[in-house]
Amino acid sequence: MNNLIFKNSRILIIDDKEANIDILLGLLEMQGYSHIQTTTDSRLALGLFKSFNPDLVLLDLMMPHLSGFDVLKQLRETIPADAYLPVLVLTADMTAEARKRALAGGAKDFLVKPFDLGEVSLRVNNLLFARFLHQQLYNQNQILEERVQERTSELEQANLELIVARDKALESDRLKISFLNNVSHEIRTPFNGILGFLSLLQDHDLSPKDRDDYIDIINQSAYRLMNTINDIVEISQIQAGQNRPDVCETNIDKLVEELALRYGPDAESKGIEFRLHKNLPDGLQYIYTDDIKLRTILSNLLANAIKFTETGSIDFQVRQNAHNLEFSIKDTGMGIPASKHSVIFERFMQADPSNTRKFDGSGLGLSIAKAHVELLEGNIWVESEEGQGATFFVLIPLYPSKLHLNKEVQVLNEPLMAEKKDVKILVAEDDEVNFDYVYLILTKANYPVLRARTGNEAVELCRDNSDIDLILMDIKLPGLDGYSATKAIHSFRPEIPIIALTAYALYGESEKAMEAGCNDYLAKPVKGEDLLAVMRKFI
Ligand code: ADP
Repeated sequence: MNNLIFKNSRILIIDDKEANIDILLGLLEMQGYSHIQTTTDSRLALGLFKSFNPDLVLLDLMMPHLSGFDVLKQLRETIPADAYLPVLVLTADMTAEARKRALAGGAKDFLVKPFDLGEVSLRVNNLLFARFLHQQLYNQNQILEERVQERTSELEQANLELIVARDKALESDRLKISFLNNVSHEIRTPFNGILGFLSLLQDHDLSPKDRDDYIDIINQSAYRLMNTINDIVEISQIQAGQNRPDVCETNIDKLVEELALRYGPDAESKGIEFRLHKNLPDGLQYIYTDDIKLRTILSNLLANAIKFTETGSIDFQVRQNAHNLEFSIKDTGMGIPASKHSVIFERFMQADPSNTRKFDGSGLGLSIAKAHVELLEGNIWVESEEGQGATFFVLIPLYPSKLHLNKEVQVLNEPLMAEKKDVKILVAEDDEVNFDYVYLILTKANYPVLRARTGNEAVELCRDNSDIDLILMDIKLPGLDGYSATKAIHSFRPEIPIIALTAYALYGESEKAMEAGCNDYLAKPVKGEDLLAVMRKFI
């Protein structure tokens, strides 16, 4: 064993005889031990043991006040059970009884007085060696225990992560199932209405009133179906991270008025009073924001307020709140329990997820609204109690526009009929149903129509018919697509207006159309009056 270990070992000598201490001290110092403490008063033994923390105790047995056996007892009570009690008993008592009692009391060895100095030195060495080995073992154990501890906490962490991942997977499974259930329900229900009432329309004995009612129902079902599909497309875009704000100067006064015009009658047809409160100070009517997203947010909230309210009123308010614009939609409907206030903003989540719930819906509206609000750097929340109505708040930063152009677009709401124009329209459309629909609208408005079924055909027809004044261009066409056909046509007829008509209603599609040189863009399905209104801008 390394000598240094011996040299650094601490030794405590407890003997009431000064002479014995001197002998031992002399011997140990000769051996090179330098950390030695001694006492002749055994009552001080415990205190010294605690403060000095010796590697070895040389302990006399026969002492006044406290015998060596008593000291052993005190030490046993102090030292933990699994620790090594380094005691070498020094005794003049030769009896086997005394030695046994000392060993049973925790002593590790004994020496009989008078000492044989060589033996003292060997026994001290042996005991210190045992102590050293014990300590080594203790240290190894500590290291092992630490490693086990580390590994255990790593495993616990991994376990926790697995539990979180499992919960996430279960949650996403649950969401998928709830998504499929909701979406399937939300698609099949209006489809059922469309197909059912279409077949009823074939009845030749229908009264004109019934016919009109059925057509109304088909129309409503089709719009409900389109809303669901729009929501699904929207949420997919949000999930794909393709949702970006498109900020422009927006007339807030006009926006809320239009929304009130759109949703007020729906509320009133249910017997619900609808009130608009425009509390904007002068000069704040025009702000910079993404008007389409803002419209979607408020539309979702207004539609919900009407859906979840049976009687009473809806108050739609816009006001300035510090540096923000605050919209609130307060209804007197069924309300939402506090426990559901945040969950309803998650995808596919409804306050009442049961199959027996009264209201339809995909559970996407509020999550879309929340994603949009966040894009506008704003905030959305609800204040409500079950049975006490609900107030939804939207707060967006106020970026006033001082430079607004104040050019109001004149909206023409003329009927589709009798729009006599000497304008020839080329419709590039491969789908028969879509073409028939556009053809009917255009011919009813007295526009002569030419048709191309492919992009190449559209280019050729333009080359051969210099009297074509405007083109309605589908984007997904066989061969040359609508964008390439637009570029080709503009290469020899740069002045001809081309309006893209596409079922690709995704984010960025209108920008793509504009980049290709299209003069405007309409997403299918297109209402007849919207199509004509856009065409009028160019003819
Ligand atoms: P959907 O209306 O399609 O179910 P939303 O995301 O728009 O989905 O709304 C989620 C849920 O929030 C609704 O199902 C409903 O439980 C609750 N909710 C939303 N608006 C209101 C409201 N004005 N009053 C009561 N509950 C509402």
